[in-house]
Amino acid sequence: MLDFLNSVPAEIGLENAILKRFAGKIALVSAFGTESAIVLHMVASIDRSLPVIFLDTLKMFPETLAYRDDLTARLGLTNVHSLRPDASQLAAYDPDEKLWQNDPDTCCAIRKSNPLDAALNGMQAWITGRKRSQGGARANLQFLEPGPDNRVTVNPLALWDDAQIATYFETHNLPRHPLQAQGYASVGCMNCTLRTGETADKRAGRWAGLNKTECGIHLPRLAIA
Ligand code: SF4
Repeated sequence: MLDFLNSVPAEIGLENAILKRFAGKIALVSAFGTESAIVLHMVASIDRSLPVIFLDTLKMFPETLAYRDDLTARLGLTNVHSLRPDASQLAAYDPDEKLWQNDPDTCCAIRKSNPLDAALNGMQAWITGRKRSQGGARANLQFLEPGPDNRVTVNPLALWDDAQIATYFETHNLPRHPLQAQGYASVGCMNCTLRTGETADKRAGRWAGLNKTECGIHLPRLAIA
């Protein structure tokens, strides 16, 4: 997407997106993962009342839930929404809670994509923490991207590298996710996240052993009744 926001510093582009381009029609979607504090901090510096959406799949690490609460309080975020899956879809598709093993794409659809799509109703854009350095489908990420849901995704950290991430944490004295020190480079649902230690591929512990690298919120939607 050709746009001047693709070539300005992250904070300036994000401020423009929140206060001007998509004012009142934009939300941050955050996993409160190992690098989420950066965009959460940027958003809090621009507008503490911006909607922040956290997808509580009911499979989250307790440490992630505690980190969510800690960052929310520290940053003074006033509009954080923790979304849970629809109970009737869980009963229909995942009655024995083994869907993540048998059909992880459908599991992600009912636990993540469907609640997200409902929450973003009326929004024009959503902010993510994705980076090119995460590789795979993210290798050519732009600041602004057409999303899979007919909205725009805003990716302020698209071009950031590990050194910039470390510097931002240090400069702003942001706490790290409690599982990072235990070897989790990337943190998602408990079932689908492994420790990887210090590897080049931070997301190697996500859906390890499966031909799956994305949870689905950034992909075309599955048809789920
Ligand atoms: S990451 Fe795993 S447990 Fe979480 S929603 Fe997706 S398949 Fe289910």
